[in-house]
Amino acid sequence: MNTTFFICLAAIMLYDGMLMTWLSWAATSSRLKQYRIRTPKTYQLPPLRKRLNVTLNNLMSLGLFLAFLFFFGDSALYPGWPGAAHLLGESLAVLLLYDFLYYFYHRGMHHRLVLKYVHRVHHMVRFPTANESVFLHPLEAVGAIFLLCGSILLFGPISTWSFLVVFFVYSTVNILVHSNLELPHPAFRLLNFWARAHDVHHKELKYNYSSIFPFWDQAFGTFK
Ligand SMILES: [Zn+2]
Ligand SMILES: [Zn+2]
Repeated sequence: MNTTFFICLAAIMLYDGMLMTWLSWAATSSRLKQYRIRTPKTYQLPPLRKRLNVTLNNLMSLGLFLAFLFFFGDSALYPGWPGAAHLLGESLAVLLLYDFLYYFYHRGMHHRLVLKYVHRVHHMVRFPTANESVFLHPLEAVGAIFLLCGSILLFGPISTWSFLVVFFVYSTVNILVHSNLELPHPAFRLLNFWARAHDVHHKELKYNYSSIFPFWDQAFGTFK
């Protein structure tokens, strides 16, 4: 891992921060209200609690990823450009495995007891916006990062560039699925699909557990 790697990692985090800020503004702005999937009567989360939870989860996630790179970077990642085919193959393999594991992890989170003590925090959000994408019980956030890093270790070593692609998709899709927006242009079809599917999850709880690929829900009969 060289300086370029850490600059790219920081650029992705900065991009995600800006995306989260803009999407949260867009979802609550009266100027874009015709594009909202659902309009809440009120945004019910106490602002201070939300800010504290989101900040602490972001800091903890950063610490966990840096710890993963420090302790497992040499065995899980290899340096240098891998070629387009390897980049695509490695990234896709890790993301497919991660999302497959995440499907069961998230479905498990809806077990009565886990929902009551852990996942309930995220589902206090009835009308998600991008800011709430990381409004989570810290244990839930740790588990998701553990699944992602475990998937990389299982397929590893992968290229540092593939890690950046995986990290970008993992963090950005989680923000996009909470956008609460459907934008009227074919270029946004995938983003609209993600946002609508996850909104159904927040509304009905028993559908759409996977985060990136809908076919895990389709395969296990929980897609809506
Ligand atoms: Zn959510
Ligand atoms: Zn859930």
